[in-house]
Amino acid sequence: RLPIIAIDGPAGAGKSTVARQVAQKLGLLYLDTGAMYRAITWLALQQGIDPQDQVAMAELMPTCQIQLSSLENDTESPNPWPTRVWVNQQEVTQAIRSEVVTKQVSAVAAQPIVRETLLKQQQQYGEKGGIVMEGRDIGTHVFPQAELKVFLTASVHERARRRQLDLKAQNQPPVDLEALERAIYERDRQDSSRQVAPLQKAPDAVEVQTDGLSIAAVIAKIVSLYQA
Ligand code: C5P
Repeated sequence: RLPIIAIDGPAGAGKSTVARQVAQKLGLLYLDTGAMYRAITWLALQQGIDPQDQVAMAELMPTCQIQLSSLENDTESPNPWPTRVWVNQQEVTQAIRSEVVTKQVSAVAAQPIVRETLLKQQQQYGEKGGIVMEGRDIGTHVFPQAELKVFLTASVHERARRRQLDLKAQNQPPVDLEALERAIYERDRQDSSRQVAPLQKAPDAVEVQTDGLSIAAVIAKIVSLYQA
């Protein structure tokens, strides 16, 4: 098997941007596992299913077919989203980034049946290695045997500030910094406190604190860790 790089960390730490470019630099595939949780959340909301309803969610899982462009060596994903995503042939690249999906996704990701299904798919995608996988539980659960594990983090303030800049760059209406901080804090709280595979740094992961670091510097750091 070829090597696997696991990049985990809290919401808005820049994992997607960094992971995708590390993959490009090293000629590896890239998988945004958060996009998969978002895709299921989008479908649940679309069908009026309450994410807390375990029975309905269990019925939904087998009907949800997710496709990701990054697994097919796609290099032309529309900015700013690193991966194009389809659910049952319908493109949801932008829809899965909406505020409603972002608000509900942690509740969906806390459901054991959802995690069990996605864990299997993610392990299959990575079975041959040669991939950078990004999420919350890659180093702890999906690929605990990954050759390199990075825990990417930044202060809540810094992550909210970056989010604000992203929104501006996308010509979206401005959102108050404190509201962004609260939303990030709340999602981290939910992701860290769930029963199954909570957000947690793997004991053998290298923590990369990105406050004050440029994207290029973070990428260079990870590439040098990989080549070391
Ligand atoms: O990375 P992103 O912010 O898109 O992830 C969305 C959500 O998906 C996270 O807040 C978390 O609830 C869930 N997730 C997860 N495990 C992963 C990746 C994402 O629980 N490996």
